[in-house]
Amino acid sequence: MYCCCHPKRLWIWLLLDAAALVLWVLLLAPHGAAAETVPEGVPLPVIMYHSLTDPSRAASQLSPAAFADDLAYLEAHGYETVSAAQLAAYTRGTGDLPEKPILLTFDDGFYNNLSDALPLLEAHDMCAVVSIVGRYTDEIAPADPHVPAYSYLTWEDVAALLASGRIEIGSHTWDLHENGARPGCAICPGEDADTYQQMLRDDLGRLQTRMQEMCGTVPTVFAYPYGFVCPESVPVLREMGFTCTLTCLERPNVITRDPDCLLGLFRYDRTPDESTEAFFSRVLAAD
Ligand SMILES: [Zn+2]
Repeated sequence: MYCCCHPKRLWIWLLLDAAALVLWVLLLAPHGAAAETVPEGVPLPVIMYHSLTDPSRAASQLSPAAFADDLAYLEAHGYETVSAAQLAAYTRGTGDLPEKPILLTFDDGFYNNLSDALPLLEAHDMCAVVSIVGRYTDEIAPADPHVPAYSYLTWEDVAALLASGRIEIGSHTWDLHENGARPGCAICPGEDADTYQQMLRDDLGRLQTRMQEMCGTVPTVFAYPYGFVCPESVPVLREMGFTCTLTCLERPNVITRDPDCLLGLFRYDRTPDESTEAFFSRVLAAD
């Protein structure tokens, strides 16, 4: 099946969290500061979802009913979803944010983000970012489309999400969604930086080109596969026009009037292991 995360990888994620925190502080933190003081700004929890289906299939899958509970909880507690475009405008000083903003994200581009998530988002007047893997949408989805349990979004589905006005499409790479010799889209040990950056440019560019061709727009949000972040990726993402990048490190964010604060946003992974109440009590308390 086409799933992205497995329970057995939890220990790896813990190690990655620690490594990602160090990298974030050293390389991505605004002004390069390992600041002990919390910068002034707007707290922003960011939630990471994947597939909305029977949660027994994988740790990254949440039932549509649990997602509905999540949205009802957020609404009842006064949270308002924001888009990456709204966040970017705020950082440039050209827009405002609601009193209690929250960013909802989906990784991997599953068809059930259209069939199950979108109607629920519409019912609650909310929005989200869906980050697709180019090759999955371009090659795998057309061969076995529209099965809510496992299919990926086709280009027609992506266009339907965009047309809803509630979904921004992010890039999850064209074909670097692996955890093998190369960890996600990160540089390999000993790899030459120029060679790596050209490889990344070529991969991400392929999705930008194909999406422009199929949907008339390109992503400005990038989700690092598995949260594998490396400093060599940052200039490439900047030059390609990405204004918001998403990691898998579970920490609060603070949004300021500095656009760089959107690079390396932390996210909380919503797994079926916790109830809606338990998950959001923990996550929102941290913010
Ligand atoms: Zn993924």
